[in-house]
Amino acid sequence: MQPNFENTAIAFELKSDSQLERAYFLFKMIANEPLVRIGTAVTNFAIKAHLPVEGLIRATVFDHFCGGVNEEDCLPIIDKMYEKGVCSILDYSAEGKEVDNQFDFAMEKTLEVLDFVKEKDAIPFAVFKPTGFGRFKLFEMMSAGLELTDDQQAEWNRIVNRYEKVCKKAHDLDVALLIDAEESWMQKAADDLVLQMMRKYNKEKAIVFNTFQMYRWDRMEYIKHVHQLAKEEGFKYGAKVVRGAYMEKENERAQEKGYPTPICKSKKETDENFDAAIQYLMDHLDIFTVFSGTHNEQSCHKLIDLMAEKKLNSNDNSVWFGQLFGMSDHITYNLAAAGYNAVKYVPYGPVRDVMPYLIRRAEENTSVAGQTSRELALLQKERKRRKLDD
Ligand SMILES: Cc1cc2nc3c(=O)[nH]c(=O)nc-3n(C[C@H](O)[C@H](O)[C@H](O)COP(=O)(O)OP(=O)(O)OC[C@H]3O[C@@H](n4cnc5c(N)ncnc54)[C@H](O)[C@@H]3O)c2cc1C
Repeated sequence: MQPNFENTAIAFELKSDSQLERAYFLFKMIANEPLVRIGTAVTNFAIKAHLPVEGLIRATVFDHFCGGVNEEDCLPIIDKMYEKGVCSILDYSAEGKEVDNQFDFAMEKTLEVLDFVKEKDAIPFAVFKPTGFGRFKLFEMMSAGLELTDDQQAEWNRIVNRYEKVCKKAHDLDVALLIDAEESWMQKAADDLVLQMMRKYNKEKAIVFNTFQMYRWDRMEYIKHVHQLAKEEGFKYGAKVVRGAYMEKENERAQEKGYPTPICKSKKETDENFDAAIQYLMDHLDIFTVFSGTHNEQSCHKLIDLMAEKKLNSNDNSVWFGQLFGMSDHITYNLAAAGYNAVKYVPYGPVRDVMPYLIRRAEENTSVAGQTSRELALLQKERKRRKLDD
């Protein structure tokens, strides 16, 4: 059964009137591109200059897009969402770290979250970002096939150990672990490392998940390649499929350095590539478990049609739908109401550390045609329904 994404009563059931008004105000601000550009610059400056802006950020973008500053903060909203059938993924979102003890800290957080996953049905996955566990530069050097110094090799070994530790624990606890994807010029090293983990820990089922960014025109070929490996070597593959969040950065770098951009030529090509990936994975569920991370309604409808075609129950364990906290509630809550496996990424962490994440969300909502206006239209519809729009 296709869910009705127009049902705003279900979509915003958990939002009080004042939270609804705040969301409406926030998306109106985000829709204003110059404002976002200036706001981003001012906020970056204020954070760097240690000005006391955290309270303001918390009361606005942070509380809308994040669950809190630590895991405990997030638990009330996680429980509330679960009452509506929506699961959560606790996503420690501190970014841009450079030193070992910070990477160890991020690893410890992931290990802690794995215990939550084991204990709480409301949290079906843990997640981490490759560069949460090691320096971007090192991933970049490894991806380019550069030779490492002894010190760099030792540093890389520590990254491998962090991967090893969390993947082993996920396997021992029998819980699933998602690994995000980032910029193309560091991703090869991350992909190779994930493959290493899958060979070891995905022998019986998909414990470790990698992410395919389908705005990259080379990813279909990569999917077929890993499929072949998984078949030959006998492991399962957890596949998170997204369009990709670093498009502008990717295009700018390619232009600056004079290589062909890894990004599809148009939004339409990205959409077709995304659809092709989902179709391929759904045709090979003997190997793949599918996690579709998208706010695109069409993509969700198509996946649901494929599930029906394959005669899968709506809550079949091999297909998951994910959206980000604070975005596309109309998709998540209506999917859950229709019985599908719907999950929210719930980012958390110290306010200043999650700023890069928040800025990406603001920019994404500004630059992606239609997304903000869709949010605004739905919020306005619900304001009307609640008679708040006078
Ligand atoms: C649960 C979840 C997990 C995620 N994990 C990751 C992750 O690990 N790594 C990551 O990079 N992103 C991740 N994302 C973000 C994701 O990649 C997208 O940036 C975001 O979801 C918007 O895409 P969409 O499919 O929701 O929506 P849509 O609005 O349909 O698509 C927007 C996207 O289309 C692409 N696009 C837009 N214009 C063009 C163009 N002119 N040419 C080519 N392509 C274009 C871009 O990727 C853009 O973000 C995640 C998203 C979710 C919901």
